[in-house]
Amino acid sequence: MLDAASIVRRFLDTKLQVHPDVVRYLSEKGDPSLIDQILGDIPPDAVVVSPRHIPGMVPTVRDGARFLTDPQVEVVWGSAGSTGGVSSLENYSRFFRHRYDTLGGIIRGRMNGIPIEAVLKNSRYRQEEASIIGMVAEVRTSAKGHRMIDLEDTTGTIPVLFNKNREGFSEAEKILPDEVIGVRGKLSQEGKLFFAESLVRPDIPNSNAPFTSHEPGKAVLISDIHVGSNTFLPEAWERFAAWLEGSDVSYLLIAGDAVDGIGIYPGQESELVIPNIFDQYDMLGDMMSALPSHIRIILGPGNHDVVRGAEPQPCIPEQFRSHFPHNCTFVENPAFVRLQGVGVLMYHGRSIDDMVASIQGASYERAGDMMEEMAKRRLLAASYGKRTPIAAHEQDRLLIDPIPEVLHTGHVHVMGLTSYRGVLCINAGTWQSQTAFQKQMNLVPTPARAVLLDLQTLRPEVLDFS
Ligand code: FE
Ligand code: ZN
Repeated sequence: MLDAASIVRRFLDTKLQVHPDVVRYLSEKGDPSLIDQILGDIPPDAVVVSPRHIPGMVPTVRDGARFLTDPQVEVVWGSAGSTGGVSSLENYSRFFRHRYDTLGGIIRGRMNGIPIEAVLKNSRYRQEEASIIGMVAEVRTSAKGHRMIDLEDTTGTIPVLFNKNREGFSEAEKILPDEVIGVRGKLSQEGKLFFAESLVRPDIPNSNAPFTSHEPGKAVLISDIHVGSNTFLPEAWERFAAWLEGSDVSYLLIAGDAVDGIGIYPGQESELVIPNIFDQYDMLGDMMSALPSHIRIILGPGNHDVVRGAEPQPCIPEQFRSHFPHNCTFVENPAFVRLQGVGVLMYHGRSIDDMVASIQGASYERAGDMMEEMAKRRLLAASYGKRTPIAAHEQDRLLIDPIPEVLHTGHVHVMGLTSYRGVLCINAGTWQSQTAFQKQMNLVPTPARAVLLDLQTLRPEVLDFS
C-alpha cells in the first residue's frame, strides 16, 4: 500500500494535481515505480494527472460535454431522485394518458387511426374497414374460444373480437391488459362490436439499426447477486473478481437484487447468513471496492432491495452506501444509460412474473422470449395491478423509448440471450444457487454467469464462473 498523502505529494512536487481515481488506483497497486512511469510519460502541458495517464489504461476519448456522471457514462433517465412520490388519482390518469399518447403516436406513424367514438357513430364502418388505436382495458375469451378485448381511446371504448380461426390469432392471444395496440377491422352490422382483421403493436421497427461505439470498450452485465443469502456463491464471485482484475472491462452493470434483503418472503431469516440489511449493503460495497477502481459500476435496485417495490424503484438510499467506492453510480429501476453512446436499458424484470402467468407457453427458462414481448409492446411492464407494483407518475417510466441497443434484465435467475430487431436482450442470471423456493417451483437457475459485451461490435459473450 502507498498512502494517499504521499502519492499526492509526489505529484505536487512536480507541480501536478492528481485525480482521486488515480490516487486510489496507485494506493491499491502499491507500486511506487508506477508513479515514475506516469511522470515519465505525462505530456508537458498536463496540469492534472487523470486515469488516462496510467500506463495500460483504456483512454477516454469522447468529448465530455453531453455526459453527466463522467466522460463515458451518461444516465439518460433513471438517475437519483427522478422518481417522485406515490400516485394520486390524477397522476393515474396522466400516467395512462402519457402511455397512450407515446405508444399510440408510434402506431399512428404506421396506420391512420380513427377515433373510437367516430367509428361507433358512423354506419359506413359497417361496410368499410377502419383502424382504431387504443389501450386494452380488458381481455377475455369468448364461449367459442375467440379473444375479446375492450379497447379504449380518449373518445370511447369498443369491444373487439379476434377470431380464433384467423391468421395471426396467436399474437391476439398474447394481448395483455394496458398495452397499446392498433387494430384494423370492421364494425358489426348492429354497430356494437368490432371484428379485428389485423393487429399492430408499437414494436421495434424492422429498420432499427443499433448504434455501435466508435472507440473500443467493454461492459459486463450481471444481475441478482443476492449478497446475504446462504445460497450466494462467494467462490464464484471471487473468480469473477479475479478475472475482472486482468480484463479490459470499463463498465459493470448490475440489474438489481444485488443483496437478498430482509422480509422479502416468509421464513427468509432462516436462509440469510447476513440478517442485517445494512450489513448486506456494506458487504456488497466492500465487494465493489475490491474491484478495479477504473471500472464504472452502475447499480440499480430489484424487488429484494431496500427501496419500495413499486416501479420505477428509486436508487439505493445514501445511508446504505457508506462502503461503496466512488466509481459506483446508483440508478433507479428502470434506468437508461449510455456507455460510449451505446444505449442500455436496465430493468430488474419483475414483470416477467406477470407475463409467465398470462402468456400461454411462456416460461422462466426462456426469459429472452419475454424480453422480446416487452420490446414488441415497447413496455417493460404492461399491466397495472398485477404482481408488478407500478407507481403511476405523471409519465410512464416503463416505456421502452428511446429504443436501446441492449435490454438488460435479471430477476428470473436463468440466463437468457436473444436478439430482436437489433435489440440485444440479455437476462443476466444470478450469483445464487438454487433456493428452497426455486426447488419447490422446479426452477433450475444458471448461476455465476456474466455477459461480456463489446461496445464496438455489440457481440455478447457468456462467461461462466460456476
Ligand atoms: Fe433475484
Ligand atoms: Zn428479483
